[in-house]
Amino acid sequence: MILQLLLEGKMIKQYTLYLILILSPLFTGCQSNALGRNALTIMPSSMLNSQAEQAYADEKQKNKIIKNTRQSHLVQQVANRLIMVANRDYANYCQGFNWEVVLFDKPKVKNAYCMPGGKIAIYSGILPVCQNEAALAAVMGHEISHALLRHGNERVSQQIGLTTLMVGANYALNKNENVSSVQKRNILIAVGLGSEFGVALPFSRMHEREADYLGLRLMAKAGYIPSEAPALWKRMQANGKSMPEFLSTHPSDASRIKDLESKQQEAFSLYRLAPHKYGKGENF
Ligand SMILES: [Zn+2]
Repeated sequence: MILQLLLEGKMIKQYTLYLILILSPLFTGCQSNALGRNALTIMPSSMLNSQAEQAYADEKQKNKIIKNTRQSHLVQQVANRLIMVANRDYANYCQGFNWEVVLFDKPKVKNAYCMPGGKIAIYSGILPVCQNEAALAAVMGHEISHALLRHGNERVSQQIGLTTLMVGANYALNKNENVSSVQKRNILIAVGLGSEFGVALPFSRMHEREADYLGLRLMAKAGYIPSEAPALWKRMQANGKSMPEFLSTHPSDASRIKDLESKQQEAFSLYRLAPHKYGKGENF
């Protein structure tokens, strides 16, 4: 029966189309990421970036933003220094980024993120944990690295599966703006913005290790002393009862601090080459 239909050509067209949709990303979507690892990123970046931009605008509407204070200037300063390095050394990986940073007035929320497309949010509760600019540069550098490494895209590609693949392919083919709300929700969950739906997927250990490593390089090149990265993770772990939200989506283990410590020599060689050195920067 199937053979008959195939022979009649009715199904050939359909199956060929599905096959092309399913297989094409395997040929076109496997690209070398900012650390040289081949990663499957099949979603159009423009699609993820515009979804992220919308979600970021919603967050800015909902939350009070701290502006024109010493703290907000310091947050902006750390962002500027890291973004300068990202644009200079990873230009290919931040094409189409529209960088922006906001400091949300949420003293009880110890969190931070950088969405695909370069939209950065710092919640004021994380500043006392950071204590200084260099530790904030470690957090922000780590978050920016997830975006540069397109980890969100990779998670969509791996975890959402065929349905999203179809929508993504459909979007790419038709430039269709009307992606269903369910798909939007799935995409937001996959890029790490799903907490309002009660689904916060932790990053994988491999993604964490990559973001730690690239983040450490970014902060050192930006002129912040890299030893503040492992020091910050130790402070976060020591936080005990008031565990930062940051840790719920960025699972930590003892090997993370060890890894960051084992990369100090390399990071310090980059730090020494930085045109301006700020040490730990100013305290919050
Ligand atoms: Zn992370």
